[in-house]
Amino acid sequence: MVTHSSKWTIATLGSHSALQILKGAQDEGFKTLAICKKGTEKVYKQFGVADKIITVSDYMDLLKIQDKLIKDNVIIIPHASFIAYIGPANIEKLKIPYFGTKSILEHESDRNKEKKWLEAAGLKLPLIFSKPSDIDRPVIVKFHGAGGGRGYFLAKNTADFEKKIKNHEGKEYTIQEYILGVHMYAHYFHSPLTGETEIMGFDKRYESNVDSIGRISARDQMALPEEQIDPSYLIVGNIPVVVRESYLPRFLEMGENVVKISKKIAGRGLYGPFCLECVITPEGVIYVFEISARIVAGTNPYIHGSPYSWLRYDEPMSTGRRIAREIKNALKDDKLKEVLE
Ligand code: ATP
Repeated sequence: MVTHSSKWTIATLGSHSALQILKGAQDEGFKTLAICKKGTEKVYKQFGVADKIITVSDYMDLLKIQDKLIKDNVIIIPHASFIAYIGPANIEKLKIPYFGTKSILEHESDRNKEKKWLEAAGLKLPLIFSKPSDIDRPVIVKFHGAGGGRGYFLAKNTADFEKKIKNHEGKEYTIQEYILGVHMYAHYFHSPLTGETEIMGFDKRYESNVDSIGRISARDQMALPEEQIDPSYLIVGNIPVVVRESYLPRFLEMGENVVKISKKIAGRGLYGPFCLECVITPEGVIYVFEISARIVAGTNPYIHGSPYSWLRYDEPMSTGRRIAREIKNALKDDKLKEVLE
């Protein structure tokens, strides 16, 4: 077994949080590889984070070059775009060393399994309405698949739902209680080597058009055509946030409980980076409406570390670098098998 980080290459697809993942790997002494779709290589060249770039016409080509990558001691770090483009079924069959528990992905992508997991961890979730006729409060209607929040709509009652769903015939959806409060995305890292769950940071999202509607007066909103004024949630960026300090113990406990339950439902359980997507109400109740069981783009503002990683590490420690540090520590202790699948 090659135990020095310089003999290993950390790779991911050139998208989502690849800049941070690759920069973090370089900082920990690894070689880096970006697998880019034609036309996107420019960015990874410009920022100097990739020692090598492989250009593909389709991300699925990754599956064809696996054997070569294995020979070159490549380790794959998944992110949301990686999971969306390669797909959980192919990831399950992937032969290249992979950072993370593959079987956790189905508990993240299947809304019923996700609900069971989070509820077992004692988290508070928005209600789900299984039939439109049950709607008795404002709801958000979410479509399945990687739409990135495009087209999600709010409905105030069953009649409103029936009217708005007409524009979305044939699509699968979930009707969820709409929670009015501020959004808070909590980033964690669970180390299988130390057994500790660390708080890495928080962010909020910048979503179009919901984050722009409030910039025009109610009078002007009323003057716009309905389809323009209906909120949609297409994420276009992330904004760093520091959470009220007295909320930290609760956030930490939530992360720890999610990891604890994950070990009962999926192999070695959840490890590495993950995120709880929350809304906090004026009463201080923290609702969790989703979990991301991998690095989230909300960690991208913290390439040089967040206030929390600064407190803990006293050196720049992005989530990407924290992943590389875990792999490096595992190499040092001859425990690579504990962090790779
Ligand atoms: P991703 O997979 O990138 O997290 P998604 O398509 O699964 O996105 P969600 O994150 O579930 O979508 O929701 C998109 C946005 O909708 C959220 O960022 C938030 O602004 C809003 N939202 C989702 N659920 C609720 C809820 N129950 N109450 C209030 N707002 C919500």
